[in-house]
Amino acid sequence: MTVFLAAREAPGRGVGLSAPTGALQAKSLRIGGISPLTSLDYPGELAAVIFCQGCPWRCSYCHNPHLLAPTSPSHIPWSRVDAFLESRQGLLDAVVFSGGEPTMQAALPAAMNRVRALGFKIGLHTAGIYPRRLSSLLPWLDWVGLDIKALPEDYAPLTATPGSGPRAWESLDLLLLAGIPLEVRTTLPPDWRLAQRLEALMHRLATAGVKSFALQTCRSLMDVDAPGESGGGGGGGTFPAPPAPTAFADLGESLFQRFVLR
Ligand code: SF4
Repeated sequence: MTVFLAAREAPGRGVGLSAPTGALQAKSLRIGGISPLTSLDYPGELAAVIFCQGCPWRCSYCHNPHLLAPTSPSHIPWSRVDAFLESRQGLLDAVVFSGGEPTMQAALPAAMNRVRALGFKIGLHTAGIYPRRLSSLLPWLDWVGLDIKALPEDYAPLTATPGSGPRAWESLDLLLLAGIPLEVRTTLPPDWRLAQRLEALMHRLATAGVKSFALQTCRSLMDVDAPGESGGGGGGGTFPAPPAPTAFADLGESLFQRFVLR
């Protein structure tokens, strides 16, 4: 059942922004789906989520594989999204652009500009894949959920993309520098050899200045071989069972102002 709450004051920051010259129009945004109401995807706000199509990385545990193809046509035309958002003015607080990787699309600034003109706060879920594009979006952003998957040097096996780690961490640096309200999220990787590095990752995030951190359970953990259940050949061996996220709760609460297990 859809629940409506009273509207909060429309955000003032960024009012009057215009999309960068040469940007595609919002109608060019390729959309894989929309979630009309959530209280989970933008902390403290009632939001709609627009799932943008396309991502250049190939994380083994991606939970939105249907959104990865960068050239898939839009499942929902922007005109329908626009009409839906108009109908929710005063009822929703925010719109979150998620994915896939929203910053992959050149039409994103125009779409954000329209969302801001309608009076909504703007949230962004990103893996920080394109730090320069993210930098150009800063004037529109009210809140960001940034996926930091691992220490920079541990990224490539997770994303199947050489050089991915430094890009994500550059995005973290620029968001911290800009002072954008930020939640860093890490999914407990199914590969225990990387999970062992999680404590080092949490310490480095805290040292970098991250205040809000969420540790997420990998939805595909059930696919990981339990000890003794795999052939484990080919030089990879069998992974020990990964730790429960709760094993990191004490450390998370000691390092961050806000620590969430989900
Ligand atoms: S960056 Fe995100 S959307 Fe892209 S493959 Fe990885 S988990 Fe999936």
